[in-house]
Amino acid sequence: MENFEQELQNRRTFAIISHPDAGKTTLTEQLLLHGGVIREAGTVKGRGAKKMASSDWMAIEQQRGISVTSSVLQFDYEGKRINILDTPGHEDFSEDTYRTLMAVDSVVMVVDAAKGIEPQTKKLFEIVSKRGIPVFTFFNKIDRDARSPLDLVDELESILGIQAYPMNWPIGSGQILQGIYDLKQKELIPFKNAADHPEVRQEGLDEVELLEDAGNQFDEKAVATGKLTPVFFGSALANFGVTEFLREYLTYAPMPAPVTTVDDQVIEPDNPEFTGFVFKIQANMDPRHRDRIAFVRIVSGAFERGMDVTLERTGKKLRLANVTQFMAEERENVQGAVPGDIIGVYDTGNFQIGDTIFSGKKAVRFPDLPTFTPEYFNKVIAKDVMKQKSYHKGITQLVQEGTIQLYKSWNSSEYILGAVGQLQFEVFKFRMENEYNVEIQFEPIGSKVARWIDPDQVDEKMASSRNLLVKDRYDRPVFLFENNFALNWFKDKYPDVQLEAKM
Ligand code: GDP
Repeated sequence: MENFEQELQNRRTFAIISHPDAGKTTLTEQLLLHGGVIREAGTVKGRGAKKMASSDWMAIEQQRGISVTSSVLQFDYEGKRINILDTPGHEDFSEDTYRTLMAVDSVVMVVDAAKGIEPQTKKLFEIVSKRGIPVFTFFNKIDRDARSPLDLVDELESILGIQAYPMNWPIGSGQILQGIYDLKQKELIPFKNAADHPEVRQEGLDEVELLEDAGNQFDEKAVATGKLTPVFFGSALANFGVTEFLREYLTYAPMPAPVTTVDDQVIEPDNPEFTGFVFKIQANMDPRHRDRIAFVRIVSGAFERGMDVTLERTGKKLRLANVTQFMAEERENVQGAVPGDIIGVYDTGNFQIGDTIFSGKKAVRFPDLPTFTPEYFNKVIAKDVMKQKSYHKGITQLVQEGTIQLYKSWNSSEYILGAVGQLQFEVFKFRMENEYNVEIQFEPIGSKVARWIDPDQVDEKMASSRNLLVKDRYDRPVFLFENNFALNWFKDKYPDVQLEAKM
């Protein structure tokens, strides 16, 4: 590929994490407006869809494949090519959401300035912070009454444990919003049509002075490793502070990072061999098209359509001919892509989550993607006992694909499914019916706290009505506690037993 090096340097790949309603969609739209891919706010697909019940969502998916197109949005701005990977919130929250965070080089955290850090943001942040990648914070909705910015910044440190560095500072909020003070340029950017409130302005500027005297040092290295978050204030809806945010983001956000293989080889993005990993598999919900799309994050080398690669897990050779790249508004067949980009490979069942593909002679294997502790569990049964074979096949395949997690009860080998979000169950049920022709039924066992236990310490007598003993799909013992109270009670009773929140 011509200009490979240049293309690579220009890539910025990120995800937006937020609690529902903080303004992720609105900010995404503003960014797309900046990139000139849309001309009007309110046009991002999927916007209406996500507020619907999951059954509606599925119908829409069936007709249009919305979540595929809105999964990756690409646009250009000031010489950079930006990939935004969608991390659905709400009822479509699932393990996919977490896994997508494994495929980005940085994260933008959108927080409602009236609410501060909310639970979903905290959960997603915890996943991100383990990776040590840069996090940029955008406190949104300052055109409405907001909490004190000092409080908000303090929450970043106290709730999330990340140091904060304000890049700008709001002067007032809501009706009395005067503007934002740019701490780098040292100037006030006035909010359009702001009613003049000299006392608010003075108070704000006093805070700015305090910050300048006493704040954290800006430390680029700390930003790069996710220890310090640059903080911005603005209003996505009013398109205020968004341009300033985007500029600074592009200044400090990293280009595609190298990835270390399971045998400790560091694969640099400019390595001439093509490598990539599958972080998400999207099933086609349309029963007439049984294919799936495997989302591949390119790690190194140039992708060219029709190139041959090897799938590491099976050793199978594949030709990457039927591939989709994600532009903001339509899917296009592409000729080339570089590290940081996502390609969608049409798949007839070859891929699993976490798979590595490579073009060179030497095998490359990236580490497995982490699995995440489920919080919802359902017993699952086939409605028709005659369909046991398809039932088992469907479960096995969908579990391998990463749709949902599988557990078995300790003695009776009943199937129990675990998920991080409720929608995973809906998708599972839908796919069992449509792809395997098996109707299933769930028996909720509610929301549980899963803890892995050392196999040598397991004693069936430890199980009770408030903690269910099960095996995960590697036959490792897990207790599902009714709630934290039951977990603590257990810990008191068996102080010597080691319990792990993650396998
Ligand atoms: P998401 O769930 O995080 O994607 O949030 P949305 O972008 O859908 O926004 C949720 C609601 O907040 C919508 O009604 C938006 O119009 C509104 N909203 C988003 N950003 C702002 C903002 O900066 N100011 C105000 N006042 N409302 C906003």
